[in-house]
Amino acid sequence: MSRNIIVAGGGILGCMTAMSLIQRGHQVTLVERGQIGGHGQGEASWAAAGILFPLLPWAYVEPVNRLAVASMRAYGELCQRLLEDTGIDPEYQQDGMLLLPDYKREQALAWASQYGFSEQAAAPAHSFAANLYDDPMWLPEVAHVRPPVLLAALKQWLLQQGAAILENTELLPLAAAPESDRLTRWQTRAGHDLEADAFVMTAGAWSGLLLGDQQPLPIKPMRGQMLLYAQPPQQKLTHIVFREGFYMVPRRDGLILAGSCLEDVGFDHAVTDDMGSQLAAKAAALLPELADAPILAHWSGFRPGSPDNVPTIAAHPRYKNLYINSGHFRYGLTMAPASAELLADLVQDNASEGELAAYAYRAAE
Ligand SMILES: Cc1cc2nc3c(=O)[nH]c(=O)nc-3n(C[C@H](O)[C@H](O)[C@H](O)COP(=O)(O)OP(=O)(O)OC[C@H]3O[C@@H](n4cnc5c(N)ncnc54)[C@H](O)[C@@H]3O)c2cc1C
Repeated sequence: MSRNIIVAGGGILGCMTAMSLIQRGHQVTLVERGQIGGHGQGEASWAAAGILFPLLPWAYVEPVNRLAVASMRAYGELCQRLLEDTGIDPEYQQDGMLLLPDYKREQALAWASQYGFSEQAAAPAHSFAANLYDDPMWLPEVAHVRPPVLLAALKQWLLQQGAAILENTELLPLAAAPESDRLTRWQTRAGHDLEADAFVMTAGAWSGLLLGDQQPLPIKPMRGQMLLYAQPPQQKLTHIVFREGFYMVPRRDGLILAGSCLEDVGFDHAVTDDMGSQLAAKAAALLPELADAPILAHWSGFRPGSPDNVPTIAAHPRYKNLYINSGHFRYGLTMAPASAELLADLVQDNASEGELAAYAYRAAE
């Protein structure tokens, strides 16, 4: 049965959720405080590096790996479809990731074998880092996208499929409706009531706030900062490289992303000189030519932080027609396609308790 569904928040989770719901025949209205793919207020999806891999997946629990691996396997085809349907190329590139020591090699090998990933001890011959470090691990299946362009493609696809997209429309925190176990409307800051049969919360780091005092979730903003460089003339970076919490990603336009950090500073989306210097020092340690290179841009974003990096994909405990798809923390880009599919299954009453159990609603204490 087709339903009118409001999706609240137009980052990667909102766009992919809207896509999955439309593919199942629902009428979707995507409501976004700013612009889809915008970045004025620290929206995470625009700010992300675009790596489609949980960096050190063996350090995460199975529910994170389950969504990540399923999504990684879907992304290539999804991006191709977006390109064909919209003419916008999300810049999906499967050029691999070089993991440099120190890392837990035994755990990494066990993970690769469990999830069917290839691993090779040697870096590819063309890698700038080949032979520089003992015991690197080369993961050829790791891919990345360019997040702002992926979001632009998703927005265009949703419009072509007849979704309503309300930008510059801020939703207010939900008010208590004591007499009912169903939501019928959600009020905007401009004073309009948006009505629907069902609602999905995809407001990232703001999801807890938007639930008002309606059993808020333990989702909190965790700031990350990124730097942007031009490729150095001699040492070309041709794949993702990761070392001790720091990564660099080569973009198709010849620029390099370098990040990131985890900062528990509330909703302060300033960038700091101190963190900029720390990231620049790590970049220069890996690619010495970057030591004197200008930093072209420096930005931040708020990850929707959640315990164990496990998102909530569940119905609200009180409002039966309010669903949550949020709290993807460090890997929302990576986990989005499979999370959106699971949410759409839930809305259709098609998801098993076993599939959903790990992502259950656990209200903040
Ligand atoms: C520096 C950095 C690097 C990262 N790199 C990666 C990476 O390489 N790979 C990866 O998988 N993940 C990465 N992440 C994590 C990833 O970006 C997030 O997990 C993901 O983007 C979360 O998506 P979201 O849609 O839940 O949140 P967001 O993208 O933040 O979207 C939430 C949306 O809700 C809107 N909103 C908020 N309040 C309201 C309201 N009241 N009314 C209407 N709309 C509202 C916001 O404007 C926003 O557009 C990175 C994050 C950061 C910060």
